[in-house]
Amino acid sequence: MTIRFLALGALPLLLSTAVMAASPKPPALETVADLALEKDALAWDFVEGITTEVGPRQAGTEAEARGRAWAVQWLRANGFQNIAVEPYTMPTWVRGEERAEITAPFAQPMRVTALGTSASTGEAGLAAEVVYFSSYADLQAAPAGSLAGKIAFISHDMKPTQDGSGYGFAGPARWTGPSLAASKGAVAAVIRSIGTENHRTPHTGGTTFAAGVTPIPAGALSNPDADNLERMFARRGERPVTMKLTLTPRSLGETDSGNVVAEITGRDPKLPPVLLACHLDSWDLGTGAIDDGAGCAIIAAAAKQVALGGRPLRTVRVLFAGAEETGLWGSKAYAAAHKGDAIYAGLESDFGADRIWRLDTNFTKTDPVLYRQLALAVARFGVAPSQEVATGGADLNLARESGAAILDLQQDGTHYFDLHHTPDDTLDKIDPAALRQNVAVWTQVVGILANRAEPIVQGK
Ligand SMILES: [Zn+2]
Repeated sequence: MTIRFLALGALPLLLSTAVMAASPKPPALETVADLALEKDALAWDFVEGITTEVGPRQAGTEAEARGRAWAVQWLRANGFQNIAVEPYTMPTWVRGEERAEITAPFAQPMRVTALGTSASTGEAGLAAEVVYFSSYADLQAAPAGSLAGKIAFISHDMKPTQDGSGYGFAGPARWTGPSLAASKGAVAAVIRSIGTENHRTPHTGGTTFAAGVTPIPAGALSNPDADNLERMFARRGERPVTMKLTLTPRSLGETDSGNVVAEITGRDPKLPPVLLACHLDSWDLGTGAIDDGAGCAIIAAAAKQVALGGRPLRTVRVLFAGAEETGLWGSKAYAAAHKGDAIYAGLESDFGADRIWRLDTNFTKTDPVLYRQLALAVARFGVAPSQEVATGGADLNLARESGAAILDLQQDGTHYFDLHHTPDDTLDKIDPAALRQNVAVWTQVVGILANRAEPIVQGK
């Protein structure tokens, strides 16, 4: 039965190869997407190139500028049109030294990394008693002023989930935990890394201090160190746990950053374009392979693959946003610079390089005909339909503000937070076959959208 099925299946493939050879007509979109699944080399070329030749691309720094120059050259070499850098300025923070040690009752060093916008302890460091909170809610319940002179340890644990929802659950410990601790008098905060592996690689990431709250030094301990510190609290008896923390990050003030844009121009330039977004900056610890070199690689490869099927009706615009990690500066600048521009549909790739497993849109119910067409077209790549409403990635501010259709090609996030914002975010973690599956799905979806004249029906 398998043999007969294979034999029948091979027939149309052979026929289409013969047709392709005989005619200059570009291959059908389905064929282009199928070939991308097998052979796409563009996405790997991009992510291998930028991680090797540029490496870390911290927002607002000279390294990010080198990333922009590299991307412009890559886009030019690959035949993109209307390539431009759109500059803006942003407040820039850079890492310094980072050390943590428990000084009593069980003296030993720990692995720590500073969180973006953390204040400095000064070179001499800061020593204080540690107060343990097993969750963000525990910290919220702490009385006002109760942390005066103390270091808050927020050990909110994160578990892996396929849809990444564990990040939403645990994330507040990093996003606003240090600010909350500062508002209750803490002189510093250390959190358990917002990550799902048990290596001694602390996860950095941005933290935000509320208006009126003076920033304090804030770091993340690796998960094994947070486990160790928890055990110390369990057996310390009446003895206080004390820590010496040295974090010396500094602010560079306003520096230059920029967005890189490029297009595959459509046959009808008056029609609103399809906007594909990613971010070009990365945290400084790794080389920004999965966050978000892979995302830029996927969208650029897909735009080029769509063009292989013939010039699309609508323009496909790629936006390599700058400075996402430290406050969405690139996305905000792009939305401000292009205010009023109509966008047909917006999609972002910023969740690593694992396979796409689900298709979410914000028109699933209002334009069921289009949704069904898209869902059927990607089913052969193992992508499931869903009723979830797409909200788009961080770099799609313009698409959201202009009321565009939004699609989320959801990637499997089970292992994404093992690597996220760590020194381990490097190229070897990307599976080339999974990367090609992303390109195939994106090619199929973007190709349908870019060749569709009708407006997308959306609710008010
Ligand atoms: Zn990212």
